Amino acid sequence: MGANGKLQVPNQPIIPFIEGDGIGPDVWSASRKVLDAAVEKLYKGERKIEWKEMLAGEKAFNQTGEWLPAATLDIAKEYLISIKGPLTTPVGGGIRSLNVALRQELDLYVCLRPVNWFKGVPSPVHHPEDVNMTIFRENTEDIYAGIEFKMGSEEVQKLMHFLKTELGVDKQIRFPESTALGIKPVSKEGSQRLIKAAIQYAIEQKKPSVTLVHKGNIMKFTEGGFKNWGYEIAKEAFGEQVFTWMEWEAIKAAQNEEAANIALKKASVEGKIIINDCIADNFLQQILLAPKDFSVIATLNLNGDYISDALAAAVGGIGIAPGGNINYTTGHAVFEATHGTAPRFANTNTMNPSSLLLSGVMMLEYMGWNEAADAIVESLKTTIKRKRVTIDFYNLMHDATLLKTSEFAEELIKNL
Ligand code: NAD
Repeated sequence: MGANGKLQVPNQPIIPFIEGDGIGPDVWSASRKVLDAAVEKLYKGERKIEWKEMLAGEKAFNQTGEWLPAATLDIAKEYLISIKGPLTTPVGGGIRSLNVALRQELDLYVCLRPVNWFKGVPSPVHHPEDVNMTIFRENTEDIYAGIEFKMGSEEVQKLMHFLKTELGVDKQIRFPESTALGIKPVSKEGSQRLIKAAIQYAIEQKKPSVTLVHKGNIMKFTEGGFKNWGYEIAKEAFGEQVFTWMEWEAIKAAQNEEAANIALKKASVEGKIIINDCIADNFLQQILLAPKDFSVIATLNLNGDYISDALAAAVGGIGIAPGGNINYTTGHAVFEATHGTAPRFANTNTMNPSSLLLSGVMMLEYMGWNEAADAIVESLKTTIKRKRVTIDFYNLMHDATLLKTSEFAEELIKNL
């Protein structure tokens, strides 16, 4: 990470990987081959990734007795960028989720999820091509911070007592005897760094708007705070590069709605990023009714979880949706498949490797190796168009050819 806040990627970077559990080894092996082939083809040996395995999940547990060995965290910290397959969530005790632990340890505050449709991919909506969004989901706060207390526990009793005696909370808890409690931390600092990253991305990628998605109508200080702090940082950090809905409101109040709309249109024509907001439940309607209205989305952790899957489903991509977890300040990033380990299909060589592969594409873009990234995306488009696909797409397409995971990778390499 350079002092200027930009990554300086050598031509032979060492990149740690976690192959993952269940179907992980199958989809990782296929993805790695395609990533290597694209880099080789585009840079003709001048650039090459040196892969370095790090252990996590079942493989780590079997070899070291730990689900997430300290050595793995050290490697991920030292090499900045890494990639991982899906990991089994250990049942009972210790770590709640390895993914959440990794995100929190490395303070990967952005969960980045691009959502686009690949022509030919079966989708449940009429116009999947209208969906072209990039989600910035806050990754370290909200109810995912894991501050939860079990019904009947001493902690709940203490907290209940504190709420009642110190904070005057009384009737709001409907069934005090049988209540579990959770705490939802949302900070100005955490919200603003996420929203700043989303606006920066919109400027760099020449996107038209950033929408803040929240439930501020109900959770006024946490989700409402997210919205207010978002508008605040947009003007503070980006000034004339953005036009916010607050400015629209101000013009409307001072003049009229027509004048506000003219100002909005002018800002848009001038290439300013429009910053607006949408309440989460309405947003989930609008992505089906008017997906073209949205481009870059900045949202809190839980909303982001629901939205990512809903949008991925709209483009038929739940099995191929990629993801990246990024700290834009330190440069740390872990790119990952968004599906789970599908244990029933472990070692069958039948699953779709595209989610992990496209996460690798996001990684190449993050490194500035865009030529290799673009080549893989084009190859994937061609391969899907030719209907040479794995079982998940095969089952939903007419006249398709069924390929194994490894054969699909070979096809992708051929089409590079
Ligand atoms: P899952 O995503 O593993 O599987 C659900 C179904 O989706 C599978 O049965 C399969 O039909 C389909 N599917 C998943 N990946 C596919 C692929 N690449 N190609 C084609 N079809 C695919 O979800 P689950 O069964 O709920 O979870 C299994 C395990 O994975 C659990 O231990 C869970 O905690 C873990 N998990 C891990 C991650 C992660 O590491 N990021 C994410 C979700 C779940």
